[in-house]
Amino acid sequence: MAKKNLFGYTLKALEEEMLARGEKKYRATQLYQWIYIKKVTDFDMMTDVSKSFREVLKEEYCLDLPTVFTKQVATDGTIKLLLEMSDGAKVECVLMRYDYGNAICVSSQVGCNMGCAFCASGLLRRDRNLTSAEMVGQVIVMNQILAEEADNVSHVVVMGTGEPFDNYDNVSSFIHIMNEAKGLAIGARHITVSTCGLVPGIKRYAEEGIQVNLAISLHAPNDTIRNELMPVSRAYPMEELLDAVREYVEKSGRRVTFEYILIKGLNDSLENAKELASILRGIFCYVNLIPLNPVKEKPYERSLDKDTKAFSLYLNNHGVNCTIRKEWGTGIDAACGQLRAKYEKGQR
Ligand code: SAH
Repeated sequence: MAKKNLFGYTLKALEEEMLARGEKKYRATQLYQWIYIKKVTDFDMMTDVSKSFREVLKEEYCLDLPTVFTKQVATDGTIKLLLEMSDGAKVECVLMRYDYGNAICVSSQVGCNMGCAFCASGLLRRDRNLTSAEMVGQVIVMNQILAEEADNVSHVVVMGTGEPFDNYDNVSSFIHIMNEAKGLAIGARHITVSTCGLVPGIKRYAEEGIQVNLAISLHAPNDTIRNELMPVSRAYPMEELLDAVREYVEKSGRRVTFEYILIKGLNDSLENAKELASILRGIFCYVNLIPLNPVKEKPYERSLDKDTKAFSLYLNNHGVNCTIRKEWGTGIDAACGQLRAKYEKGQR
């Protein structure tokens, strides 16, 4: 039988597992401390666990981590890893260094089925979901790299390859593991999940009960443009999406981020900005304008600087807070899915 990876357990789930084995509940906290505070991945070093239970742990559980397949470091310090999972699947994760901390961008699936027209992840269809242990593994491996400079991951965004709400249960466990006070203790406000707009997921997320952030990939001011860019929009049109967002804001009290990629001649006119401002009016939100990361296989071009600025100015002058996203890791295939696509396709 395959060993169970302890990195995949929320503290609550681990407590239940320990109790079911006839162990004391505090075993779970003990294990959490070894794993996340003392950063020990060898059961033999867990000296306050009885020898006989260490044998059980070795037999039935593991603390396997992904291995680093490639590592790229950009001049701005951005680190991009292509990680290999135990079955050979490869996923990307990226570390960005902000003045407020180190943010890791985590993948939630191997490939993606959402089929957004501008995105490199969809070049390869989804192979499978990542387990919660494999998502936690991305953070642990990055922390091991950062430990060399006495640093660590302080912020987590689930914005790598994959659609997190298409893998809801594992993503939910992942964010609870990140947030666990007795473990990594990453504040809920330092955790963000980004969705292309799966409405049932947004509704569930509103019920999570912790103050995690939500980002919505909007990318268009109306259904006509959105349908062209994002197939998900046919299943969950704008009105339904914005209703779910309003409901989320009401329940969580959190401000929502809308991501909007500016694409030359497609969604970047002042007319588009005007329509966007009008549909977002009254929603507690801000807009993050994203310069398109051109993908070789796709026909889209980045908006001109002057159009980007005009778009941003219009929103800010009409009651919608908006920033232009800083770019990271230029030159290291930092656009979603590019690095993985390069390797996987090379193998086919
Ligand atoms: N599936 C989720 C999370 C992964 S994508 C989502 O759609 O939100 C993370 C963000 O990167 C999304 O806003 C996505 O639309 C954006 N993105 C994808 N391809 C891009 C590209 N080529 N240039 C700029 N942003 C891109």
